[in-house]
Amino acid sequence: MKTGQEYRDSLRERNMTVYFKGELLDSKTLIDHPFIKGHVNSAAMTYELAFDPQYEDLMTTTSSFTGKKINRFTCLHMSTDDLLKKVRMQRMISQKTGTCYQRCVGWDAANATYSVTFEMDKALGTDYHKRFVDFLTKWQEEDWMVDGAMTDPKGDRSKRPCDQDDPDLFVHVSKKDDKGIYLRGAKMHMTGMVNSNYMLVMPTSGYDEENADYAVCCGLPVDAEGITHIFGRQTNDNRKQYDGEIDQGNAKYGVVGGECLTVFEDVFVPWENVFMCGEYQYSGMLVERFACYHRQNYGGCKGGVSDIVIGAAAVVADMGGYAKAAHIKDKLNEMIHLTETLWACSVACSAEGKPTAAGNYYVDPLLANVGKHNVTKLIYDIDRLAQDIGGGILATLPSEADLRSPVIGKYVEKFLKGVSAYSTEDRMRMVRLVEVMTGGVALVESMHGAGSPQAQKVMYSKLSGLEAKKRAAMLIAGVDPDKYAAKK
Ligand code: SF4
Ligand code: FE
Repeated sequence: MKTGQEYRDSLRERNMTVYFKGELLDSKTLIDHPFIKGHVNSAAMTYELAFDPQYEDLMTTTSSFTGKKINRFTCLHMSTDDLLKKVRMQRMISQKTGTCYQRCVGWDAANATYSVTFEMDKALGTDYHKRFVDFLTKWQEEDWMVDGAMTDPKGDRSKRPCDQDDPDLFVHVSKKDDKGIYLRGAKMHMTGMVNSNYMLVMPTSGYDEENADYAVCCGLPVDAEGITHIFGRQTNDNRKQYDGEIDQGNAKYGVVGGECLTVFEDVFVPWENVFMCGEYQYSGMLVERFACYHRQNYGGCKGGVSDIVIGAAAVVADMGGYAKAAHIKDKLNEMIHLTETLWACSVACSAEGKPTAAGNYYVDPLLANVGKHNVTKLIYDIDRLAQDIGGGILATLPSEADLRSPVIGKYVEKFLKGVSAYSTEDRMRMVRLVEVMTGGVALVESMHGAGSPQAQKVMYSKLSGLEAKKRAAMLIAGVDPDKYAAKK
């Protein structure tokens, strides 16, 4: 297993093309860039905590391939206990970082690709599974951070990939030869990409025969020739560049994952790292498995993030001297209820997991979708209540520079003082934490990360067994369902 330092060192060895605000960043030092370093610190926690004896059981496990001890973020889930440990670990890490640590995406892609390649090979006679096992074995040995790359730009959403004016709006195979394949297109919203070692590219949707070139899954280094990454902006991100620590709220770990647009211009991938190439019949299955694994996480990671929001709002109330008011206690209780509701779905979909044909365990897909769908709504309620408790100061607080000013610092110190036991500076720190954790990109990520709400809703009719429910209701009412079955 890699230590946090070894992970950081491995990132400096890359020769990566990353642009931010129109400028090319230096590949060796980009992990120290003010806009990126928080995300690196957060991802590094997934390495550092693996060496903490207190978390050994959650953070590490045994490789099902080699029998060696590995970081849990590289494992296949071999039981429901593994699935439960996954979400427990996620909640724990979120409680330490207050944000996304990005590494779950590649991990979810690994578990999905493992089971889908097995089933695909069996049905079609292909030999992708063995290649993927070799790739994942290396991944475990090297303890890579791997980004799962799924979402394509999609252009005009009413059109299939092959009907778009520009064929590159979906990642596709532009050329094949006896050595490998060449990829063109782009992937969007790539969480943790600029601080990963590898990426695992997956299709963005189920495809038909005409779109077989878009059914592609493969592993490649993030600095492969022909790849350009464009790092995205975040709400108030200039605070990272121009202001002190306090104004950033969570200066050490940042907010959400640090996303980018990744462009592929005829990028070569050798056959040994290709795990689907044209088998369009299995592209939808891969998307669905990955999505359900990632949706499993959200009650864990957002549950842990919400624990911090609850704690921060409660401290702000303590510091303002209004924590004992009945309505504040009531709001905190409501936030706890909502947070544990998120958590309950992550636990439930893990406990109800089942083995796949390949042997690794898959979550209960319906419950995983319900959990993520809850996140798209309940986080807004949790954050609304935190802002209610925090007060207008969340939007009007003077800057750290004002606090430090030799001229006006005394006014900030005097008029932002709350309960005398707390310092003004500490009160400002807590207010800023509530501000950054409850607005801007943090909310958008809860809505759209792991799929937008509609992506969960479309799964309900498919997974909920509506016909069985109708039949059961008819039987209770004394109506013979078979009488009407033929008429449908
Ligand atoms: Fe992991 Fe949550 Fe970040 Fe997704 S949003 S990568 S599940 S921490
Ligand atoms: Fe996410």
